[in-house]
Amino acid sequence: MTIRGSSGDLRLVLVDFDDTLVDTAPRFQNARRALFDLLTAEGFDAGVVHRVHHDEVDREMVDRYGFGPLRLEPSFRETYLRLCALEGWDPDPAVVARCVAIARDVIGPPPCYDGAIEALARLAAHVDTAIYTQAGDPDYQFDCIRKSGVLDVVPADRIRICRRKTVDEYRATLAHFGVADPGAACMVGNSIRSDINPALTVGSRAILVEVEDPWIFDVVEPVSGSFARVRRFPEAVDLLVAPPESSLRPDTVGHRVSPPVSSPRPGVESA
Ligand SMILES: [Mg+2]
Repeated sequence: MTIRGSSGDLRLVLVDFDDTLVDTAPRFQNARRALFDLLTAEGFDAGVVHRVHHDEVDREMVDRYGFGPLRLEPSFRETYLRLCALEGWDPDPAVVARCVAIARDVIGPPPCYDGAIEALARLAAHVDTAIYTQAGDPDYQFDCIRKSGVLDVVPADRIRICRRKTVDEYRATLAHFGVADPGAACMVGNSIRSDINPALTVGSRAILVEVEDPWIFDVVEPVSGSFARVRRFPEAVDLLVAPPESSLRPDTVGHRVSPPVSSPRPGVESA
């Protein structure tokens, strides 16, 4: 697999936003844990709470409202109301209010990872770079992108926000940026479902930026093992462009690509 692009054949790098450049996952995950703690304390079975939320309600809300924190309020409220309906209990308005408050805490611009914007600038100086992200509310997402400082590095016309990162949307994004050969593009992102699989399916290169605590929805089988894994976005940039001279050491150069793997890490639940 050829990843490095400074030698010339790489024309476009698409970079994901949430949990690649900015750290959103802990807020989402902590909010879900707070919701589950609240609902189990109210007397609902933990396994039923997980099933109703993850397998039923949240999927419906993603379909209805798209990705992003704005769906969490209806999702968390509906999870409680549906559990009450299953048990034949009358909903308690105070519990509804707590579900809503937990969801609203997630809204707001997420913090950048250390070194992410600097690494994005290094990438953009070497190869055409665009931000490719998904959200139910594109205005909210663009505002988060603006507040992150990304627009100091990548101009607004290189930001593409879609409702859902499908294979067709990935193809449309390559066409939007004028890339006819998918092999001349590389996708960098944290989601096997949304970033890696669409890119691999059409023949692009891909680099997975692994997250410690992935959302259950993102944990799916990769369509092939032909992608690199890194721990942080700046390491992906090292794979794509020549690293700074100071970091060129004989023991690291040429050994940055993790071995391809064909399955999620052990111990991670499958969606
Ligand atoms: Mg992401």
